[in-house]
Amino acid sequence: MPQKKDSDIIKVMNDERYAVLRERMVREQIETRGISDRRVLAAMRAIPRHVFVPEAVRDSAYEDRPLPIGEGQTISQPYIVALMTELLDVGPEDRVLEIGAGSGYQAAILGRIASHVVSVERLPGIAEGAREHLASLGMTNVEVVVGDGTAGWPAGAPYDAIIITAAAPDIPRPLPDQLREGGRLVAPVGEDRVIQTLVRLEKAGGELSLRSCGGVCFVPLIGEYGWHD
Ligand code: SAH
Repeated sequence: MPQKKDSDIIKVMNDERYAVLRERMVREQIETRGISDRRVLAAMRAIPRHVFVPEAVRDSAYEDRPLPIGEGQTISQPYIVALMTELLDVGPEDRVLEIGAGSGYQAAILGRIASHVVSVERLPGIAEGAREHLASLGMTNVEVVVGDGTAGWPAGAPYDAIIITAAAPDIPRPLPDQLREGGRLVAPVGEDRVIQTLVRLEKAGGELSLRSCGGVCFVPLIGEYGWHD
């Protein structure tokens, strides 16, 4: 039997410690705030969030807050990831589009539930990090592509669900057309750079119905149909 290296033993010990923190995160931050969709809860329990954050903040991976992931971007607070995923109503047959891959964590949660996820990221370096994180978990149904997601990703349309994880003054105009009938879209929207409103759109009978779901705080969505800077 080959001897286990010290680094392997440390990894196993850390994985066990992170599993305890993850279970506590789900119970104390997510279930107590009213998230009850069992698919969402199972995905939040299964995906190791610490894999998606830089080493410098790894020990904070399961805390109740967003964390920096480099280039001025952030991984969202765990509760917000769970809330947006629940609002999307994703099922196992669904094809999902995410705008703003960031660390790849939200895409991984969606990939655990849905059949396929395309996640668009504007910054190539950030996209490469997301791909590495997803590959390290062996996730093959999540594709990270580089581009301006405010135009959506027409090549994969129509989608059952679209999630935007950066904030724009309004929902980018091309996106609703890329939703199939019965599809859902969840996004932070608002003119304010600090606080925005989380909105949920549903396409039914060719019409779009809109619901507001509270205040949130996201980094800007920058592109042709978002903020211009
Ligand atoms: N969902 C991510 C967090 C997103 S942070 C996670 O789970 O970690 C928002 C991301 O949106 C940033 O990485 C930013 O570069 C990206 N972004 C901003 N404008 C964009 C655009 N027009 N198209 C694609 N990505 C964009």
